[in-house]
Amino acid sequence: MKNRKLLMIPGPIEFTPEVMRAMGMPTTSHVAPDFVECMGQALERTREVFLCPGGQPFIVAGSGTMAMDMAACNIIEPGDNVLVVNTGYFSDRFGAILERYGARVTHVKSAIGDVPSLDEIEAELRKADYKGLAVTHVDTSTAVCADIEGLAGLCRKYGILSIVDGVCSVAGEELRQEEWGVDIVLTACQKAIGVPPGLALLVASPKAIETFKNRRTPVGSYYSDWANWLPIMESYEDRKAAYFGTQAVNLVWALNISLEQILAEGMDKRFARHRLMSDAFKAAMTAIGLKQVPVNADKAANTLTAPYFPEGVNGSVLPLIKDAGAILAGGLLAEIREKYFRVGHMGAVSAADILATVGAIESGFAKAGYKFDHGVKH
Ligand code: PMP
Repeated sequence: MKNRKLLMIPGPIEFTPEVMRAMGMPTTSHVAPDFVECMGQALERTREVFLCPGGQPFIVAGSGTMAMDMAACNIIEPGDNVLVVNTGYFSDRFGAILERYGARVTHVKSAIGDVPSLDEIEAELRKADYKGLAVTHVDTSTAVCADIEGLAGLCRKYGILSIVDGVCSVAGEELRQEEWGVDIVLTACQKAIGVPPGLALLVASPKAIETFKNRRTPVGSYYSDWANWLPIMESYEDRKAAYFGTQAVNLVWALNISLEQILAEGMDKRFARHRLMSDAFKAAMTAIGLKQVPVNADKAANTLTAPYFPEGVNGSVLPLIKDAGAILAGGLLAEIREKYFRVGHMGAVSAADILATVGAIESGFAKAGYKFDHGVKH
């Protein structure tokens, strides 16, 4: 009997067999000609997946937090004002990182499950001389999705930089970096990018690079300093070996395969598939009587769902759901941590995965004593 459970948390996710095979390939030197070609291709494909043909991609070993750190330390100088559009746990984290590099951070918060409106953000932008705005596209703690197109438009109107934490969105949620005029988009590889954890990905607009080049003060992080990484990225794209820090060779092999698979599907089709999977899963949760953290459907992400436990059920149902075949995540946002759970459905997720997950949830909830309508009656 197959004993594998579906990993349906909001990252890491289920990876394709081709990606997993690349992880097991013999490791080459990080300056070997075939790795140089692979890294060069991965950089070019990153630009395409971020829909940012004029951007500068960075691929560096590290997690998503490292990508946030890289964005903050290269752009921020002590005393800069930054506005954080705060939708939950990861927006708090972004604020803390920005402060670590000397930014004066103002948070615009909303109620749990909601997003501050564009009017609220604009009112705040009028009050002070901001250098930039940081926003979590999909806050993995609330499953809330921010309006990046609208926010980036506001940033352009006020001539400030837009920085998007796309860790739970890039390659799943619609995000058109260049068309929408976003200056920095960052992510990690373990979510919709579809690669085991360990790579930070970031694409910077020409304006972001110019801001970095015009700094008056040195970058406060040695490892993340673009002065160290920019020549390396440019060199690999020119198909020339370069060294600053050893590349995560097998992860980059795997990344290059995954990016190829993503582009073979096509970005528009991929966004549409994520919407379809999400709609189907959310409809199933509603059908069994569960409410969700996002206050309304147009604010909900497509990469994950955050349902509240129904009356009489708590986190002890998650091991029952796991026994029935699907590993899910508990709550993360402190204020409601015990009251909800999270289900990731991104990357290579298929209709069969969604159905199996819904089945496992129904089975777990039934075992936990929750009474609900088991699907359509004929
Ligand atoms: N931002 C968001 C929106 C995330 O979901 C996560 C990880 N769950 C991070 C940042 C941090 O990424 P990592 O755990 O890879 O450091």
